[in-house]
Amino acid sequence: MERINDFLHQRKRHNLLRELQAAVFRRNGTIRIKDKDYIDLSCNDYLGLANHPTLKEAAKKAIDTLGTGAGASRLLSGDLEIHHQLEKEIAFLKAKESALVFNSGYQANVGIINALCSGGDVVFFDKLAHASIIDGILLSNVKYFRFHHNDCKHLEFLLNKQRKNFKNAFIVTETVFSMDGDTAALKELVELKKRYNCKIMVDEAHATGVFGKNGAGLTEEKGLNHEIDFIMGTFSKALGSFGAYFACSENVKKFLVNMCRSFIYSTALPPSVIAANLSSLQLIKDEPFRRQMLLSNADKFRNTLKEKGFSVRGSSQIVPLIVGESEKAVKLANALRENGWWVLPIRPPTVPAKEARLRFSLSYSHTPKILEKLIYDICSNYNI
Ligand SMILES: *Cc1c(COP(=O)(O)O)cnc(C)c1O
Repeated sequence: MERINDFLHQRKRHNLLRELQAAVFRRNGTIRIKDKDYIDLSCNDYLGLANHPTLKEAAKKAIDTLGTGAGASRLLSGDLEIHHQLEKEIAFLKAKESALVFNSGYQANVGIINALCSGGDVVFFDKLAHASIIDGILLSNVKYFRFHHNDCKHLEFLLNKQRKNFKNAFIVTETVFSMDGDTAALKELVELKKRYNCKIMVDEAHATGVFGKNGAGLTEEKGLNHEIDFIMGTFSKALGSFGAYFACSENVKKFLVNMCRSFIYSTALPPSVIAANLSSLQLIKDEPFRRQMLLSNADKFRNTLKEKGFSVRGSSQIVPLIVGESEKAVKLANALRENGWWVLPIRPPTVPAKEARLRFSLSYSHTPKILEKLIYDICSNYNI
């Protein structure tokens, strides 16, 4: 087809063609691609749980007793007791009445937003919200307004002007932003949602397991579990497994079980995945040192780069180094890769023009010594 050939040609010509890179393995903060080992700075396995013996054991045990596949969707015969056990644990962790497990974070956001919003409603969402949030909004045909990233003044301006024209209103945001590594102003957002009679939904994909006393996320850290109506998060990042959750009221859960198409029309997650998720929830309670170490190493890494005059952002385990021009970001990433660091340049349109960057996704396995060497290599290769 001509359209496809043209597209591929254009992308290639502008150096923007994305291609898959298969790894031989990925573990403990390292990755092997072809014959070369790299320190992996692109992975979301923040706590190093994806290879934790306890998770692996739990998954194997579930396969032995319950088999490899769930066999059907939850509403048919795919529903197992361990799905409910996991939902109970999540509801408890998030201090909500109830929770529902989804097959992935993408499916959760698309399905939930589509089910909860209907014509006559309105969604206000942060400009940097994840693609799955945006797709959910577009699919539901709801009216929407984007507020400038983390800008509550702009949100208030929009609420003031628009809220009265709609029936139900929703504010949607990530709690830890994947491209900037910063955190949402949850307290202010909660105040606004109360003042303007909205519901608020947050996406804790990058915060679950990393923030909060029990690793429940940023809502726990800020003491706002009760004030936030809907909390979504994933098992696929810091929890080292797969799938997603939605913590809400009992009634909203019942509604979604009946109305949410991405929940209804998809085979239930297999027992091994659910068992690993359960085991992971226990681990984040038992081993808080993983997130404490991760966040303290990340702070040190960020501050050292700042002191050396680099432009870095964020306040989490995600550390973006803003380089500026795309070409420079590509060059620096290539140079670092030559030195054994697996880091990818992020370019417009994913990020604003002249804000091309390298995004360092740190993990528990990246010790201060490793990060010191990384800083050294960034300094020596920055101006090439
Ligand atoms: C990764 C991510 C998702 C999607 O989760 P998956 O389980 O990978 O499908 C949703 N929202 C945010 C903010 C994410 O970073």
